[in-house]
Amino acid sequence: MVEMTPKKRALLCFTGNKHKADRISCCDALTTATVEQMLAVKAPFPDAHKDVELAYRLAEAAWTIIGLEGFKLPFDLCIEAEALGCKINWGRIDRHPSVETPAFNDISEFKIPEKIIEKGRFPIKHKVEEKLRREYGDYLPIVNQVTGPFTVAGHIFGIERFLIWTKKKPIEQIKEVLMMIADINVEDSKEALRCGADIICIADPSATSDIISPQFFKEVLVPVYRSISRRLGAPIVLHICGNATAYLPYIPDTEVDAFSVDTQVNIAFAKQILGNRVAVAGGVPTISALLFGTPETVRKAVIDAISQGVDVVMPSCGIPPRTPTANFRALVEATKCMIYV
Ligand SMILES: [Zn+2]
Repeated sequence: MVEMTPKKRALLCFTGNKHKADRISCCDALTTATVEQMLAVKAPFPDAHKDVELAYRLAEAAWTIIGLEGFKLPFDLCIEAEALGCKINWGRIDRHPSVETPAFNDISEFKIPEKIIEKGRFPIKHKVEEKLRREYGDYLPIVNQVTGPFTVAGHIFGIERFLIWTKKKPIEQIKEVLMMIADINVEDSKEALRCGADIICIADPSATSDIISPQFFKEVLVPVYRSISRRLGAPIVLHICGNATAYLPYIPDTEVDAFSVDTQVNIAFAKQILGNRVAVAGGVPTISALLFGTPETVRKAVIDAISQGVDVVMPSCGIPPRTPTANFRALVEATKCMIYV
């Protein structure tokens, strides 16, 4: 029998059709870059964020060095904020870029520059996706990550200030801003899909239940995510950091294909709530297993996640840059051993 391509396997698993795949996919839709990969392919942070050739080599390392069954671009969450005018702290080899200063003092100041996807580092990301598609054909899937609307709002207005506004300003105004950021996500993703991306990942780490209520999630964010889902013709993965358990009943209404969960969310419980409506991705704790554990800890986490019904084996969040290659590889090897029947 001809082996299923990692691309077809990933597309089946992310869309909740793992029973049609030969086994569970280990395509990581979150950040894959680690210091050991950067050194191995000579493409270190922060330079790899800004250069097509370096970004290509580092994205490719997810497959050539770790064995992850797909590529994911970009490596950070600041592309949108940068293009909207925020000052970026570029970090260092083991620290991701972060937003240093907000771009706007008030919602009334907020506007989106024309042709925003031609600004900042959007074109670099799209060029790398195009090059990966050219080199790897349709064998491996490419994930285009967008920074979710709530996180971008926190970047461009300042998260504390934006949180206060969510309580003080008319909710329609808050929704409108988030919808405008969703438009950027859609424009970016459409270009990525034209360049060869297969899957869209909305990474919205700040939309965590630590700072917003399930009520706000349901009434404000669900329609925003749904508007992104409805406008894109590709499988969509949503990632939210922290304990998203209280969001689970509302996730199907976002119309995303897969929900990528952090360690605080029990996979079996998530599967029970989401049923066959939304796939569940995750299962391998980034800190306790991948960063500080051993290959054996990682293997146990993979087996546990698969036995709880996970659809795609992935780290529970973006990979910590100091994660040892041996631990990251164990995620791939353990997943490959679990033939799904
Ligand atoms: Zn996360």
